[in-house]
Amino acid sequence: MKLGIVGLPNVGKSTLFNSMTLGKAEAANYPFCTIDPNVGVVTVPDERLTKLAEIHASAKIVPAVIEFVDIAGLVRGASKGEGLGNKFLSHIREVDAIVHVVRCFEDTNVIHVDGSVDPIRDIETINLELVFSDLEILERRIAKTGKMAKADKSLQHEMDLLQKIKDTLEQGISARAMEFDTPEDKAFVESLTLLTTKPVLYAANVLEEHLADDGTTNPFVGKVREYAKNEGSEVFVLCAKIEEEIADLDEGDKKEFLAELGVASSGLDRLIAASYQLLGLISYLTAGPQETRAWTIVNGTKAPQAAGKIHSDFERGFIRAEVVAYDDLIRSGSNTAAKEQGLVRSEGKEYVFKDGDVVLFRFNV
Ligand code: GDP
Repeated sequence: MKLGIVGLPNVGKSTLFNSMTLGKAEAANYPFCTIDPNVGVVTVPDERLTKLAEIHASAKIVPAVIEFVDIAGLVRGASKGEGLGNKFLSHIREVDAIVHVVRCFEDTNVIHVDGSVDPIRDIETINLELVFSDLEILERRIAKTGKMAKADKSLQHEMDLLQKIKDTLEQGISARAMEFDTPEDKAFVESLTLLTTKPVLYAANVLEEHLADDGTTNPFVGKVREYAKNEGSEVFVLCAKIEEEIADLDEGDKKEFLAELGVASSGLDRLIAASYQLLGLISYLTAGPQETRAWTIVNGTKAPQAAGKIHSDFERGFIRAEVVAYDDLIRSGSNTAAKEQGLVRSEGKEYVFKDGDVVLFRFNV
């Protein structure tokens, strides 16, 4: 999974991104841990992995990871090519979701590019750039489909949809806020890979004293929540400065530090949880003497496609999956015991994976 971090200058993007790359030592054993300075790899905390690794005496644990891309430079005028604008817009096209950092902290030492703290204005500034970029794409598409629709009447419905999206964008509204009549219409709109259909998580960057009540007493967070609700997006509250301070602490010290601030988990952990929620992701697990590992899939994925996450050969040659629910496995104490109790099921191609399924694939090579 790949998330892109956007936001106006001076809202705390780099501070948040640094906190991710500072913690990178943890993720260093990833083969694809890139040296690209704009990409940070963050591991997804999952306590189940530790217990599974114990049961299977695994040599190592490989958690799921999320890649974060720092898309700094998306500024007012980006869609017109300001500040390398188009290059940044193309980076957004490649991500699964957008983390939009919004300044909700007042600090006279930190200049705001537009002179005052106003998260809704900031959000709209960035979103408008994405809207402009989408409009360009739509206009080209409408011109092309329009020509073909003259000869092929079956394309009229597509034309109507394209026009409906264009009308929405022209009001400055993101396409993700739109509702469609049928799953087919929705799929068509998704196939356009517009920037404003990407799921968004708004990261409300607050002062540390606003962390304990999750931003409730912060004068700006409520407005961001309301804005997000209207377009079906999620919000999470963090203090980027604190994230940076705790990034290289070990787990124990981190917990203690956060407890003193009155919060249970770090902003990064909340960000990870919120992105799983937003994207409808779950994890299935594999465990053996070599490694215990988490694999990220979209909720609703069937067994062969889930197997394909590990290797395309697994998907092509899929025969069956031996599946035991994590809780059942832990309760029975071992794989052998789980089998004796009939808790290990043999599932076929139509099986839909659940979060926490511990899986062994059978496949033809
Ligand atoms: P970017 O331009 O969005 O990448 O913003 P930066 O991460 O460089 O932050 C801009 C300034 O705001 C820096 O001086 C940061 O130290 C400061 N800053 C970032 N996050 C916070 C925060 O949570 N609280 C306060 N008080 N300052 C912050």
